[in-house]
Amino acid sequence: MKQILVTGGAGFLGSHLCDKLVNSGNYVVCLDNLFTGDKKNIRHLLPNENFEFIRHDITQPIYLEADQIYNLACPASPVHYQFNPIKTLKTSVLGAINMLGLAKRTKARILQASTSEVYGDPKIHPQPESYWGSVNPIGIRSCYDEGKRAAETLFFDYHRQNHVDIRVIRIFNTYGPRMNPEDGRVVSNFIVQALKGEDITVYGNGTQTRSFCYVDDLIDGIIKMMNTEDITGPINLGNPAEMTVAELANKIITLTGSKSKIIYKPLPSDDPIQRRPVIDLAKEKLHWTPKIQLDEGLFKTIEYFKNALF
Ligand code: NAD
Ligand code: UDP
Repeated sequence: MKQILVTGGAGFLGSHLCDKLVNSGNYVVCLDNLFTGDKKNIRHLLPNENFEFIRHDITQPIYLEADQIYNLACPASPVHYQFNPIKTLKTSVLGAINMLGLAKRTKARILQASTSEVYGDPKIHPQPESYWGSVNPIGIRSCYDEGKRAAETLFFDYHRQNHVDIRVIRIFNTYGPRMNPEDGRVVSNFIVQALKGEDITVYGNGTQTRSFCYVDDLIDGIIKMMNTEDITGPINLGNPAEMTVAELANKIITLTGSKSKIIYKPLPSDDPIQRRPVIDLAKEKLHWTPKIQLDEGLFKTIEYFKNALF
């Protein structure tokens, strides 16, 4: 039995990760300050003797034992990470320093949940890991993008300087049950609006693209990365099926049978125009490829929101 620390474990991805790790016979310690996470996401795990929740902010040091650390703590939706941008940057940078220090002391393997945002508004399409990105250092997304880039730097410097056993993944847009209905991300926004019969808010003209991965596929990839030897990453994890935001809006209207109308709102600044992962490395090194098609994943997510909302 491994003792595994999951920071951000009460959030959308973190709670699914905790589920999978506990169910495969590990002892899981979930660290979360509940900024965007919710105890509801882990309520079913609380009675389990192999699960422990600690309310803690990773910008502060903590002394625990661990065999593996998954560092997921960080608000991920633009609305939430822009709410307190200084705190977002502290979470990425001070949080990484604290968790890397813990990994160094305990000799734990540590995985960083990095992001496609390190590529910024990419000038190369689709994005391979070798691309260094095109990031505005002073814009409204910078607290998140640059924080995640600095965290990657810290991971690689702890690896080179202190031989910490690191894994870095770059996650592309992921959706599924337990997304926070109010965090403003496109999939949850559109589904909630469609189910409530409200206008669907497409930002810009809707021609910007994203590639959406279902949560179960992503969690499989994260765990494979953690448990693969002789690899540091960075490795992209995402579903390369790319579509425009307008296409997504129409698909969600069709799948929900909603009467909602599409309305157009201004495009937020620095909103990337295109995004699609190259996942050749994940296929080759992890033998991982996403399996769940968009319609199937959206169907499950819509069912979740129907229950959560009504
Ligand atoms: P989320 O907001 O649901 O989860 C983040 C969790 O971290 C929340 O439970 C929150 O309370 C917690 N947290 C935030 N700041 C903290 C702090 N200072 N100390 C302790 N806990 C803190 O978001 P998510 O979608 O589950 O994202 C999880 C991770 O994956 C994030 O690091 C995010 O950057 C990364 N990621 C997610 C996506 C995606 O599409 N979901 C894409 C790229 C990267
Ligand atoms: N978006 C939109 N309407 C919404 C929410 C988001 O058109 O109600 C767009 C947003 O401008 C971006 C894309 O959908 O182009 C994905 O946004 P999200 O916040 O989910 O994630 P991002 O990939 O931008 O971090």
